[in-house]
Amino acid sequence: MTHIPPFDLTQQYKMLQTEASTAVLDVLASGQYINGPLVKEFERQFADYIGTLDCIACNSGTDALYLSLRSLNIGAGDEVITTPFTFIATAEMISAAGAKSVFVDIDPQTFNLDLNQVEAAITDRTKAIMPVHLFGQPVEMTRLMAIAQSHRLFVIEDCAQSTGAEWQGAKVGSIGHIGCFSFYPTKNLGACGDGGAITTNDEAIAQRIRTLRDHGQRQRYISEEVGVNSRLDAVQAAILLLKLRYLDEWNARRQAIANRYTELLHSLPGIITPQTLPGGQHVWNQYTIRLSQPAASSHLYRDQVRQQLQQQGIGSMIYYPVPLHLQPVFARLNDQSGKFPAVEQVAQEVLSLPMFPELSTEQQDRVIYALKDCLVS
Ligand SMILES: *Cc1c(COP(=O)(O)O)cnc(C)c1O
Repeated sequence: MTHIPPFDLTQQYKMLQTEASTAVLDVLASGQYINGPLVKEFERQFADYIGTLDCIACNSGTDALYLSLRSLNIGAGDEVITTPFTFIATAEMISAAGAKSVFVDIDPQTFNLDLNQVEAAITDRTKAIMPVHLFGQPVEMTRLMAIAQSHRLFVIEDCAQSTGAEWQGAKVGSIGHIGCFSFYPTKNLGACGDGGAITTNDEAIAQRIRTLRDHGQRQRYISEEVGVNSRLDAVQAAILLLKLRYLDEWNARRQAIANRYTELLHSLPGIITPQTLPGGQHVWNQYTIRLSQPAASSHLYRDQVRQQLQQQGIGSMIYYPVPLHLQPVFARLNDQSGKFPAVEQVAQEVLSLPMFPELSTEQQDRVIYALKDCLVS
C-alpha cells in the first residue's frame, strides 16, 4: 500500500516538465539571473491577476510582510492587530519592524480573526490590522475594511495561503492597502524555491517598497534609508509565469476535493468539517478538520487519530499546534494561557488532511475510509 503524503509536489512538476525545463534553460542561457524582464513580466501579470495597479516581487512571503510594514512607517511604539492562529512569520515580522503584535482571538468556525473582537483591541497606538486568510479562506473583508476605515487604520492582508481566493468577487490582496503573498513551494502558487510578492493600488507605497527591497536605494549607489536585499530570481519568475496559467484550474480542483471531503466526512461522530462563508471563494491551501477533544482525556484525541492514520499510510499535518501568544518568542507580551480560549481549543483539535490538486479520487477514498475506521470504531 503506497503512502499518501499530506502534499506532493512531484506530480505537478511531471505535468509541466517540458515547459518548465525550457523556461529554466532559457533563463540560464540569458545571463540575466536577478530582476530583469522576466521578473517585470511576472510583476505585471500577477498585478493583473490579483486586480491591483502594481506588484513588487521579493524573496519570500516573510519579506513581503516586513517590507509592507516598513513602507507604512510602522515601527517602535506602534501596535498591529493580528491573529494568534497563523504561521509565525505574520507576528514575527511585526516585531522585526519594531512594532508590537496585539492578538485577537479567532472565530473557531472559520479559523480567522473574530471581527466582533477587533474593535475592543484598538488603542491610540494601533496603526494597522493584519488579517490572515488562513488555509485559503478569505476574511470577511467588507466588514474588516469598515472597521479599519472608521479608525483610520491600514490593512495589510497576509495572503500567503490564499492566492486566488476572493471576497465578494474581489481577489484577496486587492482589498486592503497592501497584499502579501508567498510562493513557498507548498502554497497554491508555488515556486521551485523561495519567492514572494506585494500587491497594492497605491503608487507611493509601491515606490517605497521598491526602494526598501533594494538597500534603500532609489538611485543606484545612493542609499536613503536602511533597507534589505529582497529579490526574486529570474528562474523563479519563469516558473511562476508558467504556473500562473494553471492556478485557477488547480484551485478549482482543490475546491472539488474539499467539497467531496466535506460531503463524505461531515456526519461522522466527533468531527467538525471546515465552514465556508457565503461571500467568500475559499482556495483550500489546507483542508482542516477539528476532532473534538473528550472532556476527561489527558491525551489529545487528535494526536491518536493522526497516529492511526499514519499506521494506514496516510499523512496529515497539524497547522498549528501552538498559538502565537503561547510561543516562547512572544512570552514578553504577557498574554497568559487562557486569554484566547477559541484558538487554544482549536490548536488541540485541528488536523489537516492530504490536499493538493493532483490528489486522486482513489487516494481520497483511502483517506476517508481510514478516518471512518478511526472514528466509527
Ligand atoms: C508561508 C506563510 C508566510 C511566509 O511565507 P514564506 O514565503 O515562507 O516566507 C507568512 N504567512 C503565512 C500565513 C504563511 O502561511
